[in-house]
Amino acid sequence: MRARLGLILLVVACTKKPMAKPDPVAHATHPARTVAAHPLVTASTLNDRLSAAPAVLVAYLQEENALQGFAQTPRPHALSADERRLVSEALKTLPAEVLRLASRAVAAIYFVDDLGGTGWTETLRDDALRRSIIVFDASVLKKRANDWATDKERTVFALGADVRVLLAPEEANAEGSAFRYILLHELGHAIGTHTRAYPSAEDTPEETPFTKQSWRLEGRTFVPVQRLWPARLGFYGTAPPLPTTDVPAVYAKVKESAFPSLYACVGVEDDFAETFALYVHTVLMKLPHITLVSGDTAIIDCMEAPQCKEKRAIVSGLLR
Ligand SMILES: [Zn+2]
Repeated sequence: MRARLGLILLVVACTKKPMAKPDPVAHATHPARTVAAHPLVTASTLNDRLSAAPAVLVAYLQEENALQGFAQTPRPHALSADERRLVSEALKTLPAEVLRLASRAVAAIYFVDDLGGTGWTETLRDDALRRSIIVFDASVLKKRANDWATDKERTVFALGADVRVLLAPEEANAEGSAFRYILLHELGHAIGTHTRAYPSAEDTPEETPFTKQSWRLEGRTFVPVQRLWPARLGFYGTAPPLPTTDVPAVYAKVKESAFPSLYACVGVEDDFAETFALYVHTVLMKLPHITLVSGDTAIIDCMEAPQCKEKRAIVSGLLR
């Protein structure tokens, strides 16, 4: 499943002539989505499955951006020694059970420049083991956890929204500290389809114990069981921004719901990815997830609240 965590803020900055629209049918069967295109899958650890994106994948991502109307042209990014260390450290500090499951669910992790988003995960279409590839824009390796989380949250609202999201204690909000959380979110997508917690784009859509918590199938589309607001949330400018005066009401609704974050409301895939990332981040790693709205009223993470009990139990069961 295509799963862009962010559609990047500088969509208009590119002056390059976009490529001609690719054929969507040929794109869907592109060799980049086959196991054969990812020989790194045979490496024994995830840390050995890191690389600059190979040419076949870069070609696929360029087609993908052209089809989606993004102006960015992804290019392979070779990790510097410092960047490689940061990624290895992020992997090494994950709980053993998370790393074990992630190693089964992820074929390879790649880096590019100009992805047109922060992270992207897609399940390989010919893989009986239902593994995914993950691609990151290398700029995520520079982001600070609280700044990144806050900036992303504020894209839903008009300028000046009184909301902050804290994922790290202030002293740990260093350059590069956002990466482990962004990694956990993308691992959540890979694990979600690997374990069938939600259907992949190749599957016939079917409800699962996880999807039933907050979503129901309407035809082939998952829709929220309970509509919290009339319009789609416009993360990264994908819909018109809500007025800043809506901030208290929006978070009051999220707080009462089984959505672990505002981003989890976007769709069933991101609901799972956020539930997974926040379970690992807050419950297993004991790190903060605090949303501060309207003059510092704190919303504490849903993982400790009764309405998230079932979702938490599902993720915890997968890690057993
Ligand atoms: Zn996502």
